[in-house]
Amino acid sequence: MSKSEATSGVPPIPLKSGHTIPQIGFGVWQIAPSDTARVVSEALSVGYRHIDTAPVYGNEPGVGQAVAASGLDRDEVFITTKLWNDQQSGDNPKTALYRSLDDLSVDYVDLYLIHWPMPEVGTYLNAWEKLIELRDMGLTRSIGVSNHLPAHLDRLVAETGVVPDINQIELHPAHQQQEVQAWASAHGTRVESWGPLGQGKYPLLQSESVRAAAEAHGISSAQVVIRWHLQNGLILFPKSSRRERMIENLNVFKFELSAEEMAAIDAMDHPDGSGRVGSDPLLFNDGVVPDS
Ligand code: NAD
Repeated sequence: MSKSEATSGVPPIPLKSGHTIPQIGFGVWQIAPSDTARVVSEALSVGYRHIDTAPVYGNEPGVGQAVAASGLDRDEVFITTKLWNDQQSGDNPKTALYRSLDDLSVDYVDLYLIHWPMPEVGTYLNAWEKLIELRDMGLTRSIGVSNHLPAHLDRLVAETGVVPDINQIELHPAHQQQEVQAWASAHGTRVESWGPLGQGKYPLLQSESVRAAAEAHGISSAQVVIRWHLQNGLILFPKSSRRERMIENLNVFKFELSAEEMAAIDAMDHPDGSGRVGSDPLLFNDGVVPDS
């Protein structure tokens, strides 16, 4: 693969750590381990330079194989993986990260996240203290959390003084988590949207406001929703195993939604949380997640 191949104009977003992250990446949840190297190679070949994985996805080795086979330098691809914060791994993040590095065949990751707080398991504060050490050892360049609510975030910061670079949360038009976003902007944490297309679990792409904007700009509904995330300053990594959709999801820098179009999509929010399609971070404690 040519190193000069364009990254399709994806903006680099600065993090508190001093590093940058490409605003659009490629998520690999539910990509079968046996298919991951092929799919990620395809994603890299069409211009993605940011891959989001996790040990519970079972496909870190395939991500590593694709990155190694790409011919790209290590520092040209941003790799995120996560700590499965159950009792065992939550107490031993260093062991867990070394395993991930081994599976990914890399010396460091760009971003290491606590996957879920699992508050009743009780290890997320200890895990955060260890992530700070792992960052200082150079095993991860930036550190953050996922699915953390303001109460969890306040505790981490009160106990360690270290603010996460990133909070990766379920975020799409029906579930915008405004309080979590407000916490992030007050502290300089960047928000990543997981399930950015609502995981196809509600008729987001068929909704009136999304379809109207798609028609007005001559683009697809998915491109409208991706553009809505970008214009809100969010980082996202939609998943698709299909090459034409990988390209479509990256081809979102030649148009802009108007303030009215943005407002119409903003209005789809359910502030009471009823638009959630995944697990509730307060209730998810058993380590068996159907939607991670
Ligand atoms: P998503 O919102 O990206 O939806 C994926 C679905 O959208 C797929 O079924 C795909 O077929 C469809 N799709 C993709 N592009 C499309 C297009 N152009 N047109 C029509 N349909 C399209 O949901 P996701 O995969 O759950 O989220 C993205 C990534 O977020 C995951 O792969 C994973 O890396 C991450 N994630 C993290 C957590 C967490 O707890 N931290 C949880 C879920 C997902």
